Amino acid sequence: MNILCVGAGLSGAVIGRHLAEAGHAVTVVDSRDHVGGNCHTARDADTGVMVHVYGPHIFHTDDAEVWDYVNGFAAFKPYKNRVKATTGGAVYSLPVNLHTINQFFGRTMRPDEARDFITGEQADTSIADPQTFEEQAMRFVGRDLYEAFFKGYTMKQWGCHPSDLPASILKRLPVRFNYDDNYFFHRFQGMPEHGYTAMIEKILDHPALSVRLETVFDRSQAAEYDHVFYSGPLDGWFDYELGRLGYRTLDFQRFTYEGDYQGCAVMNYGEEQVPYTRITEHKHFAPWEEHEGSVCYREFSRAAEPADIPYYPIRQVAEKALLKDYVALAEQAEGVSFVGRLGTYRYLDMDVTIREALDAGRAFLDHVGKGEKAPAFFTAPL
Ligand code: UDP
Repeated sequence: MNILCVGAGLSGAVIGRHLAEAGHAVTVVDSRDHVGGNCHTARDADTGVMVHVYGPHIFHTDDAEVWDYVNGFAAFKPYKNRVKATTGGAVYSLPVNLHTINQFFGRTMRPDEARDFITGEQADTSIADPQTFEEQAMRFVGRDLYEAFFKGYTMKQWGCHPSDLPASILKRLPVRFNYDDNYFFHRFQGMPEHGYTAMIEKILDHPALSVRLETVFDRSQAAEYDHVFYSGPLDGWFDYELGRLGYRTLDFQRFTYEGDYQGCAVMNYGEEQVPYTRITEHKHFAPWEEHEGSVCYREFSRAAEPADIPYYPIRQVAEKALLKDYVALAEQAEGVSFVGRLGTYRYLDMDVTIREALDAGRAFLDHVGKGEKAPAFFTAPL
């Protein structure tokens, strides 16, 4: 079969590779001048620092098959994400852990004491089933920590009040009653030694697969192929005919520094009056490298306009209603499957994107083998 993958990010690359290995002819197109989508990394010419061009990406997973998969295309270096937060004139450790709690409340509690303190004196245990971000925070850490670390950050990041956001967003962050300050609790965590773009180029490097960069896809091209895997924005496929699905976009204020600017890779700013959410210092994402100069990004979040790069799907009530209508349209479409973060309008980590892409590639081949039509979605976005 002749297959087209629209988008040379993780979804397009992994599906394209899978189908190329199964003997199909695969073309991958991308409008940008590089592969890798928003995971793209590039070495800065002046400092030599590997820059996460569209913001930081840290690979973490519990999925052994996905971990083996990425290790088949890149050498991974150990990397632990240890985030710091500045709030109220002090620097704390994130995610909220025993160090954060003791420092914030000026105490010397042991784990059991801290747990009793948070549950007994801080958390609002009357909230039985937290629905919103705010309820989740009030239920598990209480007002003081919520206001210092989560409220302002979240208002800047999402442009709305945490009581209008789902609890699932906060569930991404653990609260720990020990001194473990690893941001993620996954078994496997690391950084590709030569960056994500080199890894994704290798995934795409197969004789049955050709990549065309700086190629803007339009739907009329789909007719030349037996099937299209589309990892662009779902509403974009339909020329936004029902309206636009909302996204947050990021503006990066890039600056360089001679030496070590902040001493860590990620510094979050919890207060609403600081206009940016965080500063990332990219050389600290590659601690095995040494560079005198430094490249940093001040990160600002805002509502995406049509010409902006979409980052985070918003998925509030209005967007979900519109999404439902686009899903109904998508299910009527012929010869196309929608994949990845933009194609399914979900906030996906890299490991989940790869897992879903591998599963989609396999399921597609199963459908083809049985002479069945491939579904619009291999993972339901609703
Ligand atoms: N968050 C917060 N304060 C922080 C870090 C995160 O309130 O210091 C909230 C914020 O709403 C964010 C969510 O937790 O969107 C998930 O955080 P994560 O670090 O997973 O965000 P990402 O790095 O994917 O943007």
